[in-house]
Amino acid sequence: MKRGPHPMTARFAWLLSSVLFAAAAAPLAHADWMERTEAIMGTRCYVELWADDPEKGNDAIDAVMAELRRIDDLMSHYKPESELSQINAYANERPVQVDKELFDLIKLSTHFSQITEGAFDITYASVGYLYNYPQHVHPTEAQIKQALPAVNWRNMLLDEQHHTVRFEHPGMRIDLGGIGKGYAVDRGIDILKARGIEHALVTAGGDSRIIGDRMGRPWLVAIRHPDNPKKVVTRIPLSDTAVSTSGDYERFFDEGGVRYHHIIDPRTGYSASKVRSATILAPTATQTDGMSKTAFVLGAEKALEIINRMPEYDAVFVLPDGRVLYSNGLRPPAPRPAGAPAAAPTAGTLPVP
Ligand code: ADP
Ligand code: MG
Repeated sequence: MKRGPHPMTARFAWLLSSVLFAAAAAPLAHADWMERTEAIMGTRCYVELWADDPEKGNDAIDAVMAELRRIDDLMSHYKPESELSQINAYANERPVQVDKELFDLIKLSTHFSQITEGAFDITYASVGYLYNYPQHVHPTEAQIKQALPAVNWRNMLLDEQHHTVRFEHPGMRIDLGGIGKGYAVDRGIDILKARGIEHALVTAGGDSRIIGDRMGRPWLVAIRHPDNPKKVVTRIPLSDTAVSTSGDYERFFDEGGVRYHHIIDPRTGYSASKVRSATILAPTATQTDGMSKTAFVLGAEKALEIINRMPEYDAVFVLPDGRVLYSNGLRPPAPRPAGAPAAAPTAGTLPVP
């Protein structure tokens, strides 16, 4: 079995932005694990892989980092020269032709809008741009009211044949901050696979994907407590999968008892706060990234309903009252009835340090 929760343990090896990864077993003494961290896409990007030959390993990490930079250059809404910025500058006036790769990701983002009932919507940026979290800036009610009508992915006209994007509502903007990192992680993983790498982890911000296992043991992914980065809420043993965690503690400020954070409810223009964190598992990081905002907007129950309908996905949600909800594929076994004998440990039981 690839997945199963291991609640409530609090030791871990190193910290990623929102997810903690720890090896299930101590690495071999002469391990050829190689790792590197770089700041790309405005976040922490991390590659770790097992390589027989250090030079090959190093080249592979170089190639992944270059790929992350390439995607950032194409898709960043912070870079005025990016194709995405060209869309935001001109798509209100005319169809803007873009690279097929960018077009395809924009198109794919509408798939996530569809399956999340609009919770995921890259046009959220039409109000999202009015927030500046490091500077503690949020829009006024009047500003939100004015900008909100431009939020609606259905008003993006996508021409498959010419790869053009046209906005059908004034004031529309898009940003791919909610899916671009997952997409970049998947492209990085493709590069590693093409080079014959069989054990690796690629992370960009809250989005990660794992190839293989950690030499015979699963990776242990720990979900942090929303208010305490050192406290682990639960751990999940994983191999060959992607995982994304979104949290209201990533980019935020508090003002007047309200938390303004970077996940926006496309229906209201305000930060979406129905959960504190959402961790999604699925085969690809594009999928997990695209789904990890849903529960913030729709609430855990509705999000679970959606996730439980899709066999490829699993989820762990941390609620505002501290409860932790699991999708069906991850539910811990039901408690033993009173008086029932304890089950003997099975061969598949994982040691939790
Ligand atoms: P990370 O960037 O660390 O991977 P998330 O995956 O949680 O974080 O994505 C948060 C980002 O998603 C925000 O910074 C913003 O760019 C974008 N975003 C916010 N709200 C929405 C939304 N409702 N739909 C799509 N994207 C969103
Ligand atoms: Mg993400």
